[in-house]
Amino acid sequence: MSITENLNNIKKTIPENVTLVAVSKTKPNSDLLEAYEAGQRIFGENKVQEMTQKWEDLPKDMEWHMIGHVQTNKVKYMAEYVHLIHGVDSFKLLKEINKQAKKYDRVIPCLLQIHIAKEDTKFGLDETELFEILASDTFRNLKHIQVVGLMGMATFTDNEAQVRGEFQFLKSLFDAAKNKISSLKVLSMGMSGDYKIAIEEGSTMVRIGSSIFGSR
Ligand SMILES: *Cc1c(COP(=O)(O)O)cnc(C)c1O
Repeated sequence: MSITENLNNIKKTIPENVTLVAVSKTKPNSDLLEAYEAGQRIFGENKVQEMTQKWEDLPKDMEWHMIGHVQTNKVKYMAEYVHLIHGVDSFKLLKEINKQAKKYDRVIPCLLQIHIAKEDTKFGLDETELFEILASDTFRNLKHIQVVGLMGMATFTDNEAQVRGEFQFLKSLFDAAKNKISSLKVLSMGMSGDYKIAIEEGSTMVRIGSSIFGSR
């Protein structure tokens, strides 16, 4: 099936209040343009350099989401244009994003990534670190970032109950954090293999790659 057909089929399974991020990492510009022609505007990438090249080459009304792990020394390359950074997993990184956003007089929306999987290969904050950041004065004084939600990746497993439990845990942290920071609106969870479960458990943003563009 074509990218257009895949995209249309997936859209049918996603409620209107859930945002679809088309994860286009490693895919050529021609694939992104096909999705663009089919109406898709939001694209997710996991490498700053690749995303920046695509931002330069492709239509300017595409929105770029950084979904991967970000090294602090790479933030400066995307600060001008990035629409949402999903994978903020340290206070240090948040401060660097603030610093680089200031240079462009921007406020960059960010999601704090929470470690929910039973795998140590996935990045993210734990519950204690999350609430430490949200409660700190330093955080409140960062004027060039806005934390608009949380992001997480479930364990890569066929065990649906486990995946569901991890998404439920993230949703409970999201609700608790929302009580402290009213700007929290986005809960980014769900990929090709588990996005339907994620939506059932309260996701507002799904990041889907291979089901749209084919395997990588
Ligand atoms: C690659 C990636 C996705 C998309 O994965 P698919 O299984 O291809 O849908 C989603 N989120 C993150 C953080 C990714 O790195």
